[in-house]
Amino acid sequence: MIGFMTKMFCHLSNADQHRDGVTNEGVMKRRVAQWVAACLCLMVLAAPASANPQKPYSPPLVRVGVFDNRPIVFTLNNGRQAGIAIDVLEYVARQEGWTLKYVVAPWAELLSKLDDGSIDLVVGIAYTEERAQRYNFTRESLVGNWGIVYKRPELRIMSPLDLEDRRVAMLRGGTHSIAFLQLLRQFGVNATAIETSSYAEAMELTTQGKADAAVVNRTFATLNAHRYRLAETGIIFNPIYVHYAAPRTADRKLLDALDRHLMVLKSDKSSIYYESLARWLESVPRQQLPAWLWGSLAVLAGVLLVSLMMALLLRYQVRLKTGELRHKSEQLEQEVVQRREAQGSLNQLAFFDSLTGLPNRAAFPERFAQDVLEAQQNGHKLALLFVDVDRLKTINDSLGHGMGDILIQRVGERLQACLRDHDHISRFGGDEYAIIATRINTQADIGRVADRMLASLAGPIDLSGTQVYASASIGIAVYPDHDQSLDGLLRDADAAMYRAKSQGGNRYEFYQPQHTALVTERFRLENRLRQALDAGELSLAYQPVVSLDDQHIVGVEALLRWHDAEHGDVPPDQFIPMAEDTGLILPIGDWVLTEACRQARAWQQAGMAPLRMSVNVSSRQIQLGRIMAGVERALSTSGLDANLLELEITEGALLVLTDDVRHTLKRLGDMGIRLALDDFGTGYSSLSYLQKLPFDVLKIDRSFVRNIPDQPGDVQIAATIRAMARGLGMQVVAEGIETEAQLACLRGLECEFGQGFLISRPLTATDLAAWVRRQTPAAVGRQGEPE
Ligand code: C2E
Ligand code: MG
Ligand code: MG
Repeated sequence: MIGFMTKMFCHLSNADQHRDGVTNEGVMKRRVAQWVAACLCLMVLAAPASANPQKPYSPPLVRVGVFDNRPIVFTLNNGRQAGIAIDVLEYVARQEGWTLKYVVAPWAELLSKLDDGSIDLVVGIAYTEERAQRYNFTRESLVGNWGIVYKRPELRIMSPLDLEDRRVAMLRGGTHSIAFLQLLRQFGVNATAIETSSYAEAMELTTQGKADAAVVNRTFATLNAHRYRLAETGIIFNPIYVHYAAPRTADRKLLDALDRHLMVLKSDKSSIYYESLARWLESVPRQQLPAWLWGSLAVLAGVLLVSLMMALLLRYQVRLKTGELRHKSEQLEQEVVQRREAQGSLNQLAFFDSLTGLPNRAAFPERFAQDVLEAQQNGHKLALLFVDVDRLKTINDSLGHGMGDILIQRVGERLQACLRDHDHISRFGGDEYAIIATRINTQADIGRVADRMLASLAGPIDLSGTQVYASASIGIAVYPDHDQSLDGLLRDADAAMYRAKSQGGNRYEFYQPQHTALVTERFRLENRLRQALDAGELSLAYQPVVSLDDQHIVGVEALLRWHDAEHGDVPPDQFIPMAEDTGLILPIGDWVLTEACRQARAWQQAGMAPLRMSVNVSSRQIQLGRIMAGVERALSTSGLDANLLELEITEGALLVLTDDVRHTLKRLGDMGIRLALDDFGTGYSSLSYLQKLPFDVLKIDRSFVRNIPDQPGDVQIAATIRAMARGLGMQVVAEGIETEAQLACLRGLECEFGQGFLISRPLTATDLAAWVRRQTPAAVGRQGEPE
């Protein structure tokens, strides 16, 4: 009995738990309530037992109204009644000697039959205060029941509030349905009720998605919820208790007998009551499986759980280890990459030129060794080409080293573009490149490569908006013909390059043994030139410039001479480029200016008619702006009239026409100094800059004069230059007149002035004075005096 009561209260407290949550205080209160209830029950049990201890009530027939309320009461397929209420009732009937007659009818009909006394008993009726006014109920309840809400698993419904705007399926007119709708109203929840004819239908509709939740009772849920793919919401409400009821007017003896037996049955765990509960209620789904299977399943589940945990543990450990390994491997990979990068940048620093990105000199020997090996295996030759950019100093002087660097890059790119895949280029420093041309059979093969290179440099190069023209001198040495060692080949190619440079640049030369001597000679000469000025070995020769009309002298051109004690007279074509390369041209140029002006003034002072003095000026003097100071000093120290000074500037000097150069030329022009464009036709003069610059004179290069009048093309060029000069308001001086025919032709072209061996070779100052004194019209046409 106490156990039963406890159980009943536990049911209730469970319901409370779901609703309110449980506190310790709550638990204590319920325990006390359980004990009080148990004591009361004992008292109730004691009372009827003492009131009527022996004589059982025995009516002849008990008409029992039944309806379908599984598992309390329901009709089996064979038409017999079954359920908890029936089991207990039939037990009591057997004990009491009652004859039972079942009256099956719908619920409402049963209630009216109860009202009019046409049935004696209704089984499985929930107790309510209202009903208690109309019927008599057993004091003992048969079973506790309550409403429970199920939901579709994907929905989040945890309290009645979550049912706002949801569809709730529920039994039409069911006690729990009415109670639940009331509950929703209390909470102010607006849900749509979908009425069904059974709990099963409510669950079915919800499973199908036609409703969001289903309201059923606890006994139905216990038996059937597992059939539907629904989840409990935790919403439990309306706890009710099922009793037996009799008409209000009937004798209570029937109900008392039921109460008496129910109390006894409930107090005995092995009674028919618990048997019935177990059969129809809690254990129904489980009873479908044999007990041993449950045991096995439990063991299996245990084993599975352990295996699962082991597997998870293993997996976790594997993942941990894998993670560690992956981390280590990533670290290693990173290290390898870093080392490779470090090695790469070291290599880049060590073996590549930072300016051009080309391999540098350090990388050359290894590459050469590989190429030699391949050449030996295939029976080919190799060519080593030494390339030196011409006039790089001019660019550096005029545009600055930044621009010179860009030029070096551009030249590197152009040279590289001329090479085949198997050739190799490297920058050796400064303006020098070395190239290994592989798979060579004849010198003509190499010649083609070299020609391509020279041609590739011919086009203008854009240096941040300034167009410059570059050329190069190329020396070529061939493996194994000239030498077999790298050093030997480099030396030979270098010597050949010097040869090409001394020939005027923009050309290539194959190495010849005498080149070595030339190079050695050049170095020796260079050293000697450094002392030439101080040693007084430099002098000036003066070549007359005459009017071609009447052959009278109009001026002289000062030409530098170097008489070396060891080598004798060194030609200007040889030592002047050397002086430019070494920078010696700056002090030498200053000396020339001063000396020429001094001489001109000296002639005047000696009584000669004033002669215009033409002085050749190197590009470097102009680019560095040094010329201004030199001119001013020369004029002021000599006292020569600025109008008598003429500066000859070669086209090459104007290769890079910067604002500085333009400005310098303008200032010179403003000073009254005449400017002559020397060697016209050999460089890259363009009409546009001839127009912009203050030149007074054009000097037709002697290479054109040489071939007139025999070469009609050259005559045409001379005529064109003449016409152009006239158009620009410039005078023309023809250089290198050696023959009468040339003279006649130039006169015919109305060329105003000329100079050349026919008129006079360059003379010493003394000889020049004598030449002038002797000069008569008849002198023209005669071989000039020797220097
Ligand atoms: P340039 O200014 O064109 O000088 C004329 C050159 O032609 C001179 O050579 C002269 O001797 C030569 N010449 C004159 N008439 C004839 C002729 O009928 N036939 C031939 N074959 N040659 C003739 P030079 O004196 O050897 O000078 C060579 C170059 O050296 C000059 O060419 C000039 O560019 C440069 N130069 C000479 N003196 C100086 C100087 O003081 N400073 C600078 N920067 N350059 C100089
Ligand atoms: Mg000249
Ligand atoms: Mg000239």
